[in-house]
Amino acid sequence: KEHRIYNFNAGPAALPLPVLEEIQENFLNFAGSGMSITEISHRSKWFDAVIEDAIARTRRLLKLDDRFHVLFLQGGASLQFCMIPMNLLPEGKAADYVNTGTWSTKAIKEVKIQGKTVNVVASSEDRDFAYIPKNIPFNPDAAYVHITSNNTIKGTQWAEFPETGSVPIMADMSSDMMSRPFDPNPFGVIYAGAQKNIGPAGVCMVIIREDMLARVPQNLPTMLKYTTFSEKNSMFNTPPCFAVYTLQLVMKWLEETVGGLDKMAAINEKKAGMLYDFMDRSEFYRGTADTDSRSRMNVTFRLPSEALEQKFIQEATQAGFGGLKGHRSVGGCRASIYNATGIDAVSALVDFMKTFEKRNG
Ligand code: PMP
Repeated sequence: KEHRIYNFNAGPAALPLPVLEEIQENFLNFAGSGMSITEISHRSKWFDAVIEDAIARTRRLLKLDDRFHVLFLQGGASLQFCMIPMNLLPEGKAADYVNTGTWSTKAIKEVKIQGKTVNVVASSEDRDFAYIPKNIPFNPDAAYVHITSNNTIKGTQWAEFPETGSVPIMADMSSDMMSRPFDPNPFGVIYAGAQKNIGPAGVCMVIIREDMLARVPQNLPTMLKYTTFSEKNSMFNTPPCFAVYTLQLVMKWLEETVGGLDKMAAINEKKAGMLYDFMDRSEFYRGTADTDSRSRMNVTFRLPSEALEQKFIQEATQAGFGGLKGHRSVGGCRASIYNATGIDAVSALVDFMKTFEKRNG
């Protein structure tokens, strides 16, 4: 424990310490099986209990009714960029996409590759994706609306989800899944690569509403059809067992230790507030996102010069703070403060930032 650093990685990212300890404790003999979770059959009673519990906890945490299927797929969030239009955008229809950064851009590209029609109904590219667009002219006859709920690289987040009438929303929640409560009912698909907020790399949580499954064309490759997985409870083939198990423990931690998503959201609000309030009072650090679009998960900021940014990251690393370098495509600094990064870590970071400013400001 004493070797662990303050982890501000963007993903894969920090996991709750009690989860890691539980994995360690049970690693050689899982649930009395005499085997490790990495050695047992996915068709065993032991793994069945794991996946069922992961699904049940996800349903309770997000208040999902029976219409929603909780699936565990591979291929990351990136495969969902492709599977959503492939399965859910019928020929002759068009989809609305909001472009709020790198990940939205990649999602849009996958629709075009399939030769389907995408309407980019709003974009914040004009100001380097520093904000979430407002008053968006959605098409009432669109097959769906696609958004990225939190923009990991640019540090912006939808404070509220858009009103789209009866058009279902497809949301990439990779970097803020389970960070706050929301009404799931307007969503056709909610998906999240687990490796930021809900588990390790290797599994993507996909929540799909029953009426979406009726859109799935028969003639798709088996492994690219949502129905393949919804009909077999994510076990058409071997699921990523270890990743699902870790995710199950994260859901248990959220329910039993944190006490649900309202509590989690309050903690996340507090952590983000500590950093933004400090930056707003400083002449030295400058947040890159517009105030009303700021992410509570990825706090992106600049220092007065690139040389100082380099020095900051170097000294922070030496002082035991990891992952503060901004994404390679944008530079600068980024503190990713997902669910598992505690108030203590953020408080220590603010203290470090203060000291660094005093010495270099
Ligand atoms: N969407 C968002 C918002 C992300 O942050 C990321 C990962 N950085 C991805 C999609 C891609 O996820 P994956 O690596 O699981 O394909």
